[in-house]
Amino acid sequence: MNFLEQRILKDGVVKAGNVLKVDSFLNHQMDVALLKAMGQEFHRRFAHKKITKVLTIESSGIAVAYPVAEAFGVPMVFAKKAKSINIDGDVYVAEVPSFTHKVTNQVIVSKKFLSSEDHVLIIDDFLANGYALQGLISLVEAADATVEGLGIAIEKGFQEGGKRMRNLGYHLESLAIVESMSAETGEIVFQAQEA
Ligand code: 5GP
Repeated sequence: MNFLEQRILKDGVVKAGNVLKVDSFLNHQMDVALLKAMGQEFHRRFAHKKITKVLTIESSGIAVAYPVAEAFGVPMVFAKKAKSINIDGDVYVAEVPSFTHKVTNQVIVSKKFLSSEDHVLIIDDFLANGYALQGLISLVEAADATVEGLGIAIEKGFQEGGKRMRNLGYHLESLAIVESMSAETGEIVFQAQEA
């Protein structure tokens, strides 16, 4: 079991509706040493790729993406949730239905910060149905940039997003893959991973 899986078992809380709460170390209070180790692990897993930019989505992706960008020595860009009224021609736009908040957000990235020269590593905290990743991928595609990989802290393997992304041919690395979890018993089971 790796360090993130161990921490999820210790401090993660399973809520009804297939939600895993990790707000004592990742989503509200942040364990910066853990985040740094996660950044280094993503760097190790994608070290063979040429990465020029790390892209995530606000707000909870930012803390995960920051140490990844630091490890690669490249800028980190986060897609911002936008009010339609503020959207002009200078931004790429994607629609992202929110798993946790049950609304659809328009997210934007300024055209200044993604170009056809970029090789992008997309990072997020959770993968459920894959809508956030899909939105981020469409922003990269709108810029004619290249998606080099997808890095996820916690994938819920019993939801469809991971399978869909792998079937589409993306190189997806998840530090922890939850195979099953129960709000009744609190039990969390991980998929075995190669060391
Ligand atoms: P997806 O777009 O893949 O359906 O869901 C991923 C997004 O929803 C992530 O950006 C994350 O913020 C949020 N999310 C999905 N599942 C969970 C969960 O179990 N716990 C938490 N804290 N966030 C989740």
